[in-house]
Amino acid sequence: MTALDLHAASPETSVAVIGAGPAGCTLAARLAQLGHDVTLIERSTFPRPHLGESLSPGVLPLLASTGARAAIEAAGVRRVSTVDVRWGRGAEQRHDVSAAGRIVDRGQLDHLLLEHARSLGVRVLQPARLVAQHADPHGWQLGLEVGGRRVALRARFVADATGRARNLGSGRHTPGCRTLAVYAYWRGRGLPARPCIEAGADAWYWGVPLPDGTCNTLAFVDLDRASRGRPVAERLRELLQSSVLLAGCRDATLVGPVRAVEATPSLSSACVTATSIRVGDAALAIDPLSSTGVQKAIQTALAGAIVVNTLVRRPERHDAAMRFYQEMLGRAFAQHRGWAAWHYREVAAGTPSRFWQDRAAGAREPDPPPAGDAPGIDVPLALSPHLEIVVEPCLDDEFVSWNPAVRHPGLDGPVAFVGGVKVAPLLGRVRPGMTPLEMAQDWSRTVPLPLGLSISRWLVTRGVLVPVTDPSERARRDR
Ligand SMILES: Cc1cc2nc3c(=O)[nH]c(=O)nc-3n(C[C@H](O)[C@H](O)[C@H](O)COP(=O)(O)OP(=O)(O)OC[C@H]3O[C@@H](n4cnc5c(N)ncnc54)[C@H](O)[C@@H]3O)c2cc1C
Repeated sequence: MTALDLHAASPETSVAVIGAGPAGCTLAARLAQLGHDVTLIERSTFPRPHLGESLSPGVLPLLASTGARAAIEAAGVRRVSTVDVRWGRGAEQRHDVSAAGRIVDRGQLDHLLLEHARSLGVRVLQPARLVAQHADPHGWQLGLEVGGRRVALRARFVADATGRARNLGSGRHTPGCRTLAVYAYWRGRGLPARPCIEAGADAWYWGVPLPDGTCNTLAFVDLDRASRGRPVAERLRELLQSSVLLAGCRDATLVGPVRAVEATPSLSSACVTATSIRVGDAALAIDPLSSTGVQKAIQTALAGAIVVNTLVRRPERHDAAMRFYQEMLGRAFAQHRGWAAWHYREVAAGTPSRFWQDRAAGAREPDPPPAGDAPGIDVPLALSPHLEIVVEPCLDDEFVSWNPAVRHPGLDGPVAFVGGVKVAPLLGRVRPGMTPLEMAQDWSRTVPLPLGLSISRWLVTRGVLVPVTDPSERARRDR
């Protein structure tokens, strides 16, 4: 990495990533691994406080793909295996979470992710704030504020990873009702020892005991019906009186100010162009109900890195790259909205409250878990009648490319690869009545037998391969 001389007449970088949250750090790290010249620009000095302290179980495996997982685990994160849930039926329930999530100090997490990106060769400008941008035929002219002075930086490609601040232009799709989160950190004896989630009359609550002994209490209310003009501190204290979050704590003392932030789900309507991309919350901000915002941010960054790599190095494939990214985000947004509404519906069933009724609209039953036990290796199978083979843009190692893909109601979207193997050609070889073992043997010239067996099992659990029910087909096999 060469240092960037900001005093030079026209400092340049290939890719400028604005914002060093989980999305920006992951995108920058992955692009550096792919050999790009990357500059990461962050306005705050780290570590700085940030919301998003509960990490879903999928976060650490995703971070493994940039090599950041080891650094995060070494720094110590708190495992969470139980959550107190008061949702819908009123009674207290304790949910054992089989795949443990983690609770982190987000300031510390983001700091470690930034240092990891730096160790991979990413150039970091911090504190440096993007204050202006202008696109021209050769890329971008960026205006930065660094140490109180204005600096220009040229970039061939720009990534907006500024979170909900969304700094590069506008264009937000926010269907449905708007939500405000009011939150504060407390210290005291008897604060919740486990994360708690609770449904109130016109609000829901989330309590997060943090590694430093403080507890973050959040109340989610309707933004358009929130009483304006009243101090947020007063509003939060009143809301918390209707909640059990602080009920066991007699000496709760505020640590820092009470704050309010918008928590409405949104999708960017301009998430990618030939020379720019949005990742993380800037592209897709989901309902905090699922505590998977950080995971989604990292997922969009990992996919976004391959999209950027394609746009920069294979510009002739820009159609495939842009369509892949737009469709991926659109599907994720729709699925997540349906999932969140389904959970709001559990509470809405027992109350006429507009808060719950509005959020339950468009509820979609979550997809059933994969169809349980995979069949034995000698069960005759056939292709599902609902299976379609389509040509779709897909992630293909380091680039987006057009590939034959499998479309089926049991899949979240078109799937071109399973276990790193192109799956459509394998299905083209399946004849009715073949068993998983026969399939794996048939594919074994290109796919190792154990992998072939697991691919056939996976396809059965998703309903792409189905047991043979036609008696004549069974009889033909048995002859
Ligand atoms: C109330 C609430 C609670 C949440 N709780 C959870 C939770 O428990 N678990 C979870 O997984 N998710 C949670 N989320 C979501 C989570 O916070 C986000 O999904 C996640 O932080 C998104 O990461 P990001 O990298 O896209 O953006 P961010 O983490 O927001 O990072 C953006 C970065 O860009 C920088 N930046 C902004 N503008 C500029 C500029 N002009 N120049 C330079 N730098 C700039 C900012 O300083 C910041 O560091 C919650 C969200 C809300 C609203």
